[in-house]
Amino acid sequence: MSGQLTAIRFGKVHPIVYYAVQAAQTGQFGAAKRLYNIGAGKSRSNIMPQDLVLIGGGHSHAIVLKMFGKKPLPGVRLTLITDVSHAPYSGMLPGHVAGFYSYDECHIDLRSLVEFACCEIIIDRAIAIDFNRSQVICQNRPPVKFDLLSIDIGSTPATLSVPGAANYAVPAKPVPEFLANWNDSIAWWRNHPDTLLRIAIVGGGAGGVELALNMQSRLLKEAGEDTDYETARMNYWGILNELLGRGKQEEKLENLLEIHLFHSGAELMHGHNRQVRLRLQEILVRRGIQLHLMEKVSLVEKTAKLEIASDSQYPMPDAPCPIPHYRIYCESGLELEFDRIFWVTQAAAASWLEASGLAVDANGFIQVNDCLQSISHPNVFAAGDIAAMLNYPRPKAGVFAVRQGKPLFENLQQFLLQKPLKPFVPQQQYLSLIGKGDQSAIASRGSWMWESPLLWYWKDWIDRQFMKKFIDRTQKENKETQFL
Ligand SMILES: Cc1cc2nc3c(=O)[nH]c(=O)nc-3n(C[C@H](O)[C@H](O)[C@H](O)COP(=O)(O)OP(=O)(O)OC[C@H]3O[C@@H](n4cnc5c(N)ncnc54)[C@H](O)[C@@H]3O)c2cc1C
Repeated sequence: MSGQLTAIRFGKVHPIVYYAVQAAQTGQFGAAKRLYNIGAGKSRSNIMPQDLVLIGGGHSHAIVLKMFGKKPLPGVRLTLITDVSHAPYSGMLPGHVAGFYSYDECHIDLRSLVEFACCEIIIDRAIAIDFNRSQVICQNRPPVKFDLLSIDIGSTPATLSVPGAANYAVPAKPVPEFLANWNDSIAWWRNHPDTLLRIAIVGGGAGGVELALNMQSRLLKEAGEDTDYETARMNYWGILNELLGRGKQEEKLENLLEIHLFHSGAELMHGHNRQVRLRLQEILVRRGIQLHLMEKVSLVEKTAKLEIASDSQYPMPDAPCPIPHYRIYCESGLELEFDRIFWVTQAAAASWLEASGLAVDANGFIQVNDCLQSISHPNVFAAGDIAAMLNYPRPKAGVFAVRQGKPLFENLQQFLLQKPLKPFVPQQQYLSLIGKGDQSAIASRGSWMWESPLLWYWKDWIDRQFMKKFIDRTQKENKETQFL
């Protein structure tokens, strides 16, 4: 197969022919037929073969791929460079942390999507762009040539530059590493039912607050499995606790689980209205999550204590072993020790974009015009967190990445067809549905707020509908196969 792909790169086989044969060979007769139609000249126009390379399988690119699958362009060779084969959907990520969604339910299978879009996939990390040679430089694979480039690589939490944070804290992104650490924490909690687990979350934005609530919810459920805290197993444990007051079970759990949330500002959830901010603060406090407002973390250190490990993985169960702990130091002088530290601070951009020569803003995000086109390189487009629209600055949220998918697709096609680009104006205000970890949610839009379990079901429906779009496409392909 790699030989065939190399042949395409050297122009020995027309890519449409290659993909049509490949699709027919793998039983995707629907895709093969569409490609045949393109090859037979039934497509909208004939253009010279061009390489469109997509970096990152973020929300906008998932939509672009889906739309390219429905509406391909003749002569356009699509390549996706992604460091993961399954892309997380941010809307369902906190729900996955809480245990409401399985891994598959909240991840887009990029392999089926690229198959639908007749796109080559390269599982690797882009680390630079060589504009002189028009190549994307990858970490492990050979450089990838492009005529047109689109970047949707998201962001990572900022201030990992705090000494010790990069070594000892777990950033919320990249998501695969975060989830691996989270699953490890759950496993630890299961294996140590009587040991205190202390978790720190650094960053009091929407991500940090949602994580705190959903992590607590999940760990209480886990505790419910192994102990007699029956209420912890109930979906509405939060409501029950709130109605009954702080019960005996909760007191016991307090001795086993501590969650601390550090935030440098005086109020949580910057960018949301005051009602939402105060309500979430109240919920966190009532659920026993320890808030440290106006606390700027300045150092993270690893400390190891000799303890009797109850974990059977140690060769001598009764012998004292060094168990790692982490100490957080704040500028105020506050010092606290934890077993796990999660880092969910403000979004930051990958440094290789600026180093490659792209025009970026003060925070390193690619500056794009109203058509999502780089202001320095006309054959580069960007969307999602990594893009900074010059005229319409917006918060880094999945909702904007999703909304930019369609205009990005349209403008990539317009560019390839050498037609005028279409400006795009993102919405000013957006509805944010913040899950509370108890299958209830808070809606926030402008100065408006509403809290209800109904909102959780609505959010769940919206998120599932979004994910269904990507699942249905491949299933539809398979159905087409069955008829032939
Ligand atoms: C804990 C947490 C909870 C959140 N909850 C919500 C929420 O409920 N609702 C909401 O709207 N937003 C939420 N957000 C914000 C949301 O995650 C982002 O705004 C959204 O994911 C941005 O989408 P994107 O398409 O820009 O990038 P992403 O979804 O981050 O996708 C980028 C993709 O590119 C890949 N990639 C990165 N670098 C490279 C590279 N060099 N080469 C190849 N591939 C690469 C990544 O692996 C990833 O798959 C949350 C964020 C966090 C941290």
